[in-house]
Amino acid sequence: MGTDVIVAGAGPAGLMLAAELTLAGAEVVVVDRAPERSGQSRALNLQPRSVEVFALRGLLEPVLDRAQAKVRDGHFFGQTLSYTELDTDHPYQLVIPQADTELILEARLAELGVKVRFGQELTALEQDEDGVSATVNGEVIRAKYLVGCDGGRSAVRKLAGIGFPGTDGHGWGVVADVVVATGDPSVRSDWSSMRDVLPKRSASENGFGGMIPLGRPGLYRLVFGDLTSPLPDRAAPITDEEFQAGLRRFYGSLEVSEVRWRSRFTDAARQAERYRAGRVLLAGDAAHIHFPVGGQGLNLGIQDAMNLGWKLAAVLKGHSTISLLDTYESERHPVAARVLDTTRTHSLLAQPENAGARRLFADLAVLPAANHHLANMVSGLDIRYPMTGSPHRLLGTRFRGLRLPEGQGLLLSDDPRNRDLARHWEPRLTVAPDISTLPSPYGAGVLVRPDGYICWVEGDEPLKHALHTWFGAP
Ligand SMILES: Cc1cc2nc3c(=O)[nH]c(=O)nc-3n(C[C@H](O)[C@H](O)[C@H](O)COP(=O)(O)OP(=O)(O)OC[C@H]3O[C@@H](n4cnc5c(N)ncnc54)[C@H](O)[C@@H]3O)c2cc1C
Repeated sequence: MGTDVIVAGAGPAGLMLAAELTLAGAEVVVVDRAPERSGQSRALNLQPRSVEVFALRGLLEPVLDRAQAKVRDGHFFGQTLSYTELDTDHPYQLVIPQADTELILEARLAELGVKVRFGQELTALEQDEDGVSATVNGEVIRAKYLVGCDGGRSAVRKLAGIGFPGTDGHGWGVVADVVVATGDPSVRSDWSSMRDVLPKRSASENGFGGMIPLGRPGLYRLVFGDLTSPLPDRAAPITDEEFQAGLRRFYGSLEVSEVRWRSRFTDAARQAERYRAGRVLLAGDAAHIHFPVGGQGLNLGIQDAMNLGWKLAAVLKGHSTISLLDTYESERHPVAARVLDTTRTHSLLAQPENAGARRLFADLAVLPAANHHLANMVSGLDIRYPMTGSPHRLLGTRFRGLRLPEGQGLLLSDDPRNRDLARHWEPRLTVAPDISTLPSPYGAGVLVRPDGYICWVEGDEPLKHALHTWFGAP
């Protein structure tokens, strides 16, 4: 059998990518080796940029329905970052377990006609000039492209021979969803600020511990660990003894009556040396892993998928050349590299010898300009993709304020000549009939890519050039 794209892995990145590809008209097969969804809460938050992305795709309502809290700030090394002044309609993190985010994305994908094939593991791949042959449960599936969204230990990445350089962890952590028998007076059951749940830090003991309420009475996300002593064996199971010792260390008398799942993590940070090898691409954790502090991993993967989906579909349909696909790596690699840098900074600040740096950071991070800078960064709102041409301040930034036609670009221009020109690219883009609803920062007009980023601003370079660059031949 043959298809356009095999997506290996149906986590958040794979599900989002499959939906984006389908919206843009590509045929997709999604396989996942797990027999079914794990239901684990794992990533607990959608950052403001991800909330905007869900809104762009008409998925705001289901995420709001399932969200357990709206939190008005983020954090960086324990310093809260105020989101309330961010330039967005969604100046908050949504607390929503990863399992719920996945359910919403999977339901969306099913509406688009694609069903995830669970219990199907990719174990081998070969590529040639025309396509990729992937071995899944012993059978070969043929596709024009393959995208590995198969997580941090990605088989696709290894089979494609893509290196994963980076740094080993300084330390380790344990994460668990627990039901507590006796309440902890220091933990709130409802919350709206990171201040309510930030880890209890014990610099003298070099450890950290924290609890986040999970929306049901007694149910909490418990995290504890130590960033100063490397984990001897990542694969070693967490013994009851170790778990109880961690619990006692940070929460003294707290009694846990049930552990729903528990897992280890480290602050290792690694990034794929390239995001494409021929017809094989990577997205999400397959392309980057880092310390899960600050809640950015799932959010990165969602945005990798938004960036890649429409580009790969345009190349598949023959509208665009491979140079469009190459902008996936040139745009997304630096974004993840920066998250790796900043999460490494967390680990460095935690080292005992860096007490002076911690004091300096604490002094700086409360300054409004610094706080705002960090908030813009962690929220994902300050991403600006490098685009050649004009230095206009809006170019490469996200477009906000209107829902986009799905899978398509959008031209908003008050110049009828521009609107006539752009019609040659329909239906890859929609030409808005009038721009009276355009939010004011956008002036006389903008061209927006299907992923919601501005690729041309009226009054700059000729529109024709931007149309060819981003939407291919007319
Ligand atoms: C404890 C914990 C807490 C976290 N907290 C946060 C947070 O608060 N905020 C945040 O943004 N991020 C957080 N993260 C990170 C977040 O969970 C990951 O970044 C996110 O899951 C990555 O999504 P993904 O789709 O790239 O990969 P994954 O979710 O790992 O999905 C990969 C999928 O691929 C499948 N697969 C693997 N190998 C194969 C194969 N060979 N063939 C077929 N299928 C395969 C797997 O079964 C899996 O379903 C946390 C992570 C952990 C572990």
